[in-house]
Amino acid sequence: MALCTGERKTNQLQCYGTIYKCKACGNEGCMQNKEHACSNQGFSVLERCYKCGATGQMEMLPNEERAPRKTPSYG
Ligand SMILES: [Zn+2]
Ligand SMILES: [Zn+2]
Repeated sequence: MALCTGERKTNQLQCYGTIYKCKACGNEGCMQNKEHACSNQGFSVLERCYKCGATGQMEMLPNEERAPRKTPSYG
């Protein structure tokens, strides 16, 4: 799944949170349990979109869409 490339406010490290997309407005970002915890946060813990304010409209991005295609070589 897509991972958030935003920066966490608390420790300035990359967020690596799961990216969600708002079905209402197309806004993309991660979800955090605190408000504005990440520079790329798109949704509050109550599944509320930061952009349009809709709740419960978030969906996970499909795997293939933007994840870099890596073929892990096991063995
Ligand atoms: Zn994030
Ligand atoms: Zn929205």
